[in-house]
Amino acid sequence: MLKTYYQKSNINVLLKMFALKKTEWFGVRQLKNLQTKRFKKILRHVLKYSRFYQRYYKKHGITLENLESITVTDLPPINKEIMMDNYDDFVCDRFLKRKNIEEFLSYSKEPREKYHNIYTVIHTSGSSGIIGLFVYGPEDWAVIKALAAIRVVKPPPHFPRRIKSAYIGATDGHYAGVSLSCDVPKLFARFLPISINSPIETIDQKSNAFYPDVLSGYSSGVHLLSQEQLKGNITIRPERIICTSEPLTYGIRDTIKKAFGREPVNLYAASESLSMAVQCERHGNLHLFTDWHIFEAVDDDLRPVAAGTPGNLLLTNLYNYTQPLIRYQMHDEVVINEQPCGCRLPFPTMRNLSGRQEEFLWFDTADGKRDYLHPSVLAELFVAGLKKFQVIQTQRNEMLMKVIIDGNKEAVLAAIRQRMGEIYREKKLDTTVKLDFEIVQDIPNDPKAGKYKLIIPLKN
Ligand SMILES: [Zn+2]
Repeated sequence: MLKTYYQKSNINVLLKMFALKKTEWFGVRQLKNLQTKRFKKILRHVLKYSRFYQRYYKKHGITLENLESITVTDLPPINKEIMMDNYDDFVCDRFLKRKNIEEFLSYSKEPREKYHNIYTVIHTSGSSGIIGLFVYGPEDWAVIKALAAIRVVKPPPHFPRRIKSAYIGATDGHYAGVSLSCDVPKLFARFLPISINSPIETIDQKSNAFYPDVLSGYSSGVHLLSQEQLKGNITIRPERIICTSEPLTYGIRDTIKKAFGREPVNLYAASESLSMAVQCERHGNLHLFTDWHIFEAVDDDLRPVAAGTPGNLLLTNLYNYTQPLIRYQMHDEVVINEQPCGCRLPFPTMRNLSGRQEEFLWFDTADGKRDYLHPSVLAELFVAGLKKFQVIQTQRNEMLMKVIIDGNKEAVLAAIRQRMGEIYREKKLDTTVKLDFEIVQDIPNDPKAGKYKLIIPLKN
């Protein structure tokens, strides 16, 4: 009890921030040693406490006895589907049960609410379309908070007052972005969530009234605000702008710079780890936080690619002891460069070639205007039992949702219908847009891209 209290405390986060700062002065080898040490520690932990990993690794001849000779590339990779199919055995904390967590998520929409007052639960459907749960214990979460504070937000040390931090994205649930950004100590910051699913006028009003010092959110959300600023609909002056989750293209970056006079910072984050890499201030590459992660680029057969060539990202999260991810397949194509980029930081660098890039769906509103349904609202949609889905705009004001359902079809479909109704109502699209559902067994990949597409807008 006392331990949990400490783990949740600001002091714990603060001490971790100092430690992280110290690591930035490490040499390349020293950093590598720290990574290896942490890898061995978490591997020992999963072999002790996760029934899934015990079984899975045993099949490959890996047990606690020969752990010392194991390197990360000896371990078989995992993915979201494997994790979710084995969830209760997968986690190292036996208290956690998939069914109970999903139940919690179906009634708790407040991202600040912790599961049993202890755990931070994040959910996503993400770009693969399979719903995933990611649970962080208080100590795991403290690492994320420290990482985000010291390496991403980097508050000016002598800021005259409490910082005002606004986040634009999906805000009414346990999504990655909002869960992290809302969890700043009230002592240091005020927080405003801006729902990307509100009508544009509401977004403008809130932004103007709050006048944030720090603006963060999905790249497309921050982009939207910069366009509103250029149109003269808002006048804000954020000191620090953090874009995440979606590619920050040159075009988007330029618009943001023009609007706010500040260079946006690109943060690489996901539900699997909420702070993995941040853009170098001098060279534009992403600095990989290899003190708390292992990043590998692999080919389609999951074999390592040569350094400096494109590959799919495998992530090992070294701080989540509650639900450890070891060699977990992300859906990002990356180029990793083991050499530091030339600024003083010792971290390897990465270029992200893909990332989530979904499309906006535009519809007519009841008062004759055009407004959008933001891709993140769909990408983050969570309904217990909804396994995978795809949204297709079939007519100017019609949408078809293909769903793969686990469990009671009627009940799950009713829950999806209700959740989508809420989303439409918030955006004032409920009276104008017709929504149909189709229960399917499979959703094939887009034949052209060879990848699964969550959203298919109307072709014209
Ligand atoms: Zn650098």
